[in-house]
Parts: sequence; C-alpha cells; structure tokens
Amino acid sequence: MSTPPAMLHPELLAPSDTPAIVRDGRRLDHAEAASKPLRSRPEPQPRGAKIHGNRPVDQAEAAARFIAAPEHEKMHDERLWDLRQKRDREMHGIDEWEELRALASAIKEHTLTHLDEYLEQFEANARSNGIHVHWARDAAEHNRIVHGILKDHGAKSLIKSKSMLTEECGFRAYMASVGIEVVETDLGERIQQLDNEDPSHVVVPAVHKLRTDVAEVFSKTIGTDPDNSDVHYLAEAQREATRPLILKADAGMTGCNFAVAETGGITVCTNEGNADLSANVPRLHIASIGIEKVIPRLEHLAVFVRLLSRSALGSPITQYTSHFRGPREGGEMHFVLVDNGRSTRLGMEEFWTSLKCIRCGACMNTCPVYRRSGGLSYGATYSGPIGLIIDPTFNAHKYSNLPFASTLNGSCSNVCPVKINIHEQIYAWRRELVKRHEVPFAKKAEMKAAGALLSRPAAYRAAIAAADVALAHLPRFVIYNGLNAWGRHREVPHPPKQTFHSWHHANRGGKS
Ligand code: SF4
Repeated sequence: MSTPPAMLHPELLAPSDTPAIVRDGRRLDHAEAASKPLRSRPEPQPRGAKIHGNRPVDQAEAAARFIAAPEHEKMHDERLWDLRQKRDREMHGIDEWEELRALASAIKEHTLTHLDEYLEQFEANARSNGIHVHWARDAAEHNRIVHGILKDHGAKSLIKSKSMLTEECGFRAYMASVGIEVVETDLGERIQQLDNEDPSHVVVPAVHKLRTDVAEVFSKTIGTDPDNSDVHYLAEAQREATRPLILKADAGMTGCNFAVAETGGITVCTNEGNADLSANVPRLHIASIGIEKVIPRLEHLAVFVRLLSRSALGSPITQYTSHFRGPREGGEMHFVLVDNGRSTRLGMEEFWTSLKCIRCGACMNTCPVYRRSGGLSYGATYSGPIGLIIDPTFNAHKYSNLPFASTLNGSCSNVCPVKINIHEQIYAWRRELVKRHEVPFAKKAEMKAAGALLSRPAAYRAAIAAADVALAHLPRFVIYNGLNAWGRHREVPHPPKQTFHSWHHANRGGKS
C-alpha cells in the first residue's frame, strides 16, 4: 500500500487519492502536479472493408467510414497529393520524360509478348550463377515451395522486405499456420503486420495511419509510451525492437522489382536498406518474383530506375538499388517465379497490358477516389486505379464493385510511367462485368432506362422539363431519403429558369 502524503491527514484521504508528488524534496500540492495535461482523444482509425467470404466487397461503405473520419481523410488526401506534386516536379526536370515513358512501355510490351523466351533465359542464367530456381503456378504452390526450402534448412524464423506478391499469396498467414515466425523489415509494413492489417498502398503501406495510430499500435505491441507519437521516438523504438530479430533470423526473403534475363540477376529498390539486411544477414536468401517482372537486358534497367522512384515518391532514385546476382560465399539463394493468374491475364485481350505495371503507386496518389477513401476500403491486395483492373482478374464476383469506384477522369493513365491505359481498362471492366452478369439488377435497369432516355432527344427534353417542375415542388424527402443512395451524398442544384435548349431555340431559332 502506498504511504499517505505527509500534509494530508490519513482520515481525509479518499480511497482514490493518489500519493503526493514530490519534486526536489518539496511536495507539489497544485492540481497540475497530480493530473496529466488535457488532451483531446485522438480520432480512432477507420478500418477497411468488411469481408464476407466471396460476397462482393462494398467499397462505398468502407469509403464512407473513412470519409467520416475527417483527420484521417484530410491527412491521407494531403499526403498523397504531396507525393503527386513531387512527382510532377521531378517529371518537369527531365526533358525526355515522355520518351522514357514510351520506351518503358515498349520494353514491357515487347517482353510480355515474348515472355516464355525471356523467362527461360532468366532461369538458365540464374542457374549458371548458382541460384536455385523454382516455378510456382499459384499462391498455394509458392507458399509450399518456400516452406519446403525453410524446412530443408531447419529454419524457424524469416525476415523479409516488402513484397506485394507475398501479400497476394497470403504468405504470412500461411507461415504462421506452419509455425514459422515472419518479421517484416520495412517500417510501414512492420506497422501493418503489428496491427494485423494489410498494406493500404503499394509503396507506403501505412499511409492511412496518423502518428497517433502508430503510437497506439506500438504501445500495445512493443511497449512504447502510448502518449508519445513523436516520429523519431517511434522509429527508434521500432528499430530497437526489430534489430535483434533480424540478427537472429534463420532466413531472409525479398521481393523483386526487376529480373534481368540477360544476367539472371534481380534488382530490389528500397528506401530503408531493409532488403539488403533481409538478403545479407542470414545465409539463406529467397526471392519471390512475379513472372511479369522480367526485362530483357541490363541497359533497360536504366530506363525503369529513372522512372520508378520519381513516379512513386517524387525522388530521383530510391536510397538503395540493390542487385543480387548469386549466393554469397557459404550462402544459398533461391528464386521462386510465380504465375498466380498472370498467364491467364496475359491472354485477356483488353487487360493484358496491366502486366506492365511496375508498382510505383503514382496512379493511386493522383486518384481522387483513392485519396479520399483509403486503400483498405477496396478490401483487396491491390487498391486504387491499378487495383480496379487487377483485382477482378483474380475474382470477378468478389471485386465486381471495384471498377465502379472511379470517376474515369484519366489522371491515372496520364501519370503511369509505363503508359497503361488504366481508365480505359476500368471502363472495359464495367462492360465485362455486365456481360458476366456481375452487376446488380437495379443498376443495370437504371442504366438501361437512362440509355433509352438519352438516345431519344424529344423524350429527354420532356423528362428534363418535367424534372424541373418536379424539383421545384416535390417535398425534400422524395429525393433525400434512406432508400435513395444517390441522394445520400448529393445535393441537386436549383433548376435554371431556362434550359440551354429553350434559350437556343428562342435566340437562334434552333440554328447553330
Ligand atoms: S499502373 Fe502505372 S501508375 Fe499505377 S502502380 Fe502500376 S506502373 Fe504505377
């Protein structure tokens, strides 16, 4: 039991009274001595889409929750727009930017149309460099292969750098199920791992979190002060907690940004040097490589490296551009080449060029829908514009709502460093989903009715005139009610006194 404060008679103490606070031998009796500074409670972090098995993900519902958290929405929007502006500044600093984009697009298209040849060349050269090469048809096979390698080496712990491919494969969950400890070494990815959340962005996985969210996660998992959200403090605490795990890990894993057929080597780009730690500290290095990552020659790297970081973060180059060409002395290196639906996508006439993607995230940073709804609202591995065209290739039913989460403004296609016609593919997916009967009946019926009206000028004008009268007289609840999702987020403008058509008719006699 604590000693009662000397200046207060014990009988006057309430059970909840705290012991006196003494500083420099002097009791502090003021309220400030015993209380904490007033703080407003940080805004709780909005969580991502609710997943119900194979049911279509309701992106709009999750986005509405994100928008309802104004601090998060504002921070997210501003942070990503800042990246977009930095990207623009870098782009304007390079006269041949458009040539680089055209070249990158052409290299990727050429490689994808000769993918079998370049993959075989890559495999042969990697093997001659002393690397073990494995082929995985899908996510399950990838996970089994990696587990087999780890088992052969008696490895029980694995450190890894960020890899969207391993996210695609549900790799961490699989490793947990077979008793292997996985530690993410990228700071953002580690935050997401500790919070048991997926990455919300392909480059900056925890970009949707405020500092206070990170402080909360770290206080619960690595024991930091929950009231201290200083970024230096948090980063240092995380380094202190993770370094020992890195040093004692049995194996290391990286992803791959580019796989060079000519050399059989891979290139990994990071800003924290964590891929180098993952690849070099343990003796066993495993790299997971999507088959679309292959490029023909070393000289082509120069094109992509100039574009990647400028497009992603608006920086001229990543802090580390690491090349891995073979195992170090006494070590072992394995490449796992993963298909997981890529061959099928390559055969899709309207969507195969999405395989050109170098995962820079520029399309996400510029997208007004993504910036205001957060990556986790998409409920899929890939979010933002690139997610809208990739996710349905994995599961058209589950992700059938996603291609509608776009304004089709084309900004994504304009910033894409490999010139993917993203907004056109989003639109193509809408048509495809209608063909596959993956669009709800009500939406289809509305579109059909709108199509019929818009294709008949006389009927359209009559409908507009009727709507103008109705809008002026109808009670508000007819439009703004719980049953009308359209009215929930929009305010109909007051109808003008005269339509353009009637003005034109009156002033120009119907002549142009
Ligand atoms: S689609 Fe283009 S802009 Fe988007 S992540 Fe891929 S390469 Fe970057």
